[in-house]
Amino acid sequence: MNYKFWFIVGSQFLYGDEVLKTVDERAQEMARELSKRLPYELVYKVTAKTNKEITDVIKQANYDDSCAGVITWCHTFSPSKMWINGLAALQKPYCHFATQYNREIPNDEIDMDFMNLNQAAHGDREHGFIAARLRMPRKVIAGYWQDADVHNRISNWMKSAVGVAVSKDLKVMRFGDNMREVAVTEGDKVEVQAKLGWQVNTWAVGDLVKEMNAVNDTEIDALMEDYTAKYDIATDNIDAIRYQAREEIAIKKMLEREDCLAFTNTFQDLYGMEQLPGLASQDLMANGYGYGGEGDWKVAAMTAIMKAMGEGGNGASAFMEDYTYHLAKGNEYSLGAHMLEVCPSLAASDKKPRIETHHLGIGMNEKDPARLVFEGKEGDAIVVSLVDMGGRLRLICQDIVCVKPIMPMPNLPVARVMWQPLPNLATGIECWITAGGAHHTVLSYDVTAEQMKDWARMLDIEFVHITKDTTVDALEKELFLNDLAWKLK
Ligand code: MN
Repeated sequence: MNYKFWFIVGSQFLYGDEVLKTVDERAQEMARELSKRLPYELVYKVTAKTNKEITDVIKQANYDDSCAGVITWCHTFSPSKMWINGLAALQKPYCHFATQYNREIPNDEIDMDFMNLNQAAHGDREHGFIAARLRMPRKVIAGYWQDADVHNRISNWMKSAVGVAVSKDLKVMRFGDNMREVAVTEGDKVEVQAKLGWQVNTWAVGDLVKEMNAVNDTEIDALMEDYTAKYDIATDNIDAIRYQAREEIAIKKMLEREDCLAFTNTFQDLYGMEQLPGLASQDLMANGYGYGGEGDWKVAAMTAIMKAMGEGGNGASAFMEDYTYHLAKGNEYSLGAHMLEVCPSLAASDKKPRIETHHLGIGMNEKDPARLVFEGKEGDAIVVSLVDMGGRLRLICQDIVCVKPIMPMPNLPVARVMWQPLPNLATGIECWITAGGAHHTVLSYDVTAEQMKDWARMLDIEFVHITKDTTVDALEKELFLNDLAWKLK
C-alpha cells in the first residue's frame, strides 16, 4: 500500500479572502516541502473554515485506505466548535502539528496585518483544547516546520500510524494450535480483532505438507541461488537446505494466497514434515513476514507490524526469546535466541549468516533442520511484549542495550543476541516479570519506545515502559493505577 498522510489546515472567514489565499498557498508549500523530508507523502487537503468542510474531509479520510493518518495545523485562529463533528467521527491516527510559517518575529514588518495572518500560537491552543475536551487519542508535535528534529518526530509518528494501518489489515496464518499448556501465548482473538484488527485463523499442517509436495525442483533451485547469495553455506547436507527451501516456498504460497503477513507453527505439530522450518522461517522474516514460535500469534503479528514500522518498511525487528542469563557480578547479560527462528535482520554486518544443520531434540524432527547461525549487532534497542490481561491488552516495552556477544559459544547451534536490559539486569527482570511480560518478544533496533507508545495510544491499549529510571516500586504503583483506570474506561 502506498500510504499517504493528509494535511488539514484550520482557519475561518473572519480575515477575508486575501489572508485565506495566502494561508492556502503556504499550506501547499509546506506540504510539498515536508513531503521531500518525510517517509510518506503529506497531501494538503483543505484550509477548513466550516463544520461541513471539516466533517467532509474527515469522512473521506476514514474511507480512503491509503490515508494512514491526518495532520492538522492552524495558521490562523479556527474556532473549534466547528471541529467537533469531524473530530468525533475521526477513525484515523491524528497528529496536531503546532508550528508557524515564519521562523522569527520580523521586528520592522510586524503590524496588525501580520498578526492576523500569523496567529498559530493561539490558533493551535484553541484547536488543542477541543481535542483534549473530546479525549481524542492524538500526538502533539511542536516546533519549526523546516527543522530536522521536527521532521524526525513527524517521521516517527507517521511510521507508528502506518503500524496501525498494517495492524487493522493484518491476517495471521496459524499452522496448528499453540504449544500445549502455555499460558502467555493464549489470548482472546475476538477481542484482538475488535481492538487491533487482526484476523487470526488456523490452517491444517496437512495442507502445508500438500503444498510442500507440489513444490518443484526449479522453484527450489531458484531459492537456493538466493540463499547462496545472501548466506554462507556451512554444511554438506544440501538436502536439508533444499528441504527448508521447499518449506519456505510452500509457506509463502499459502501466505500470499490468503493475504497473510504473519504466521505461526509449533514443534509439537509437524505431522508429515521432516524438519521444523528454521531457515525457512528466518528467510521469510528477512522478507518482512512476522513469525511466532510455539503458536504465539501475538508475537507473530507484532513482529510483522514492527517490521513494517521500521527503516524502509522492513526494519531490524525480530521474534526473540530470553533464554539464559550471564550473572557474573558487574558484567550481567541476557542471552536471547530461539530454537531456530531468529531473523537475520538482527545480524552484525561484518559476517554473512551461516547456514548450518544440527540435530534438534525438541519436537518431531526426523532430520536435522537447517538454520541460520549468526551474532546479533550492537546498539540501543527495545524488546516488546503484548499480553492479554483478560478483557484488555497490555503492551510492555523495555529499553535494552545490545552488545557483541561476550563469548563465541562455538557449540551453540543457533543465532544469538546479547543485551543488558535497563535499568540493570536484576531490576530489569523484576520489572518485566512484575508487568507480566512474556518470554517471547519482538526485539527492535529501529523502532523506538516512543513509537510503540504512540502505536498503543492510537489503538487504545495500555502501554508500560521500563526505562533506565524505572523502579519496581514505581512500576507496581503504575500497574495498580492503570488497572483501575482501564476498569473505569
Ligand atoms: Mn519459544
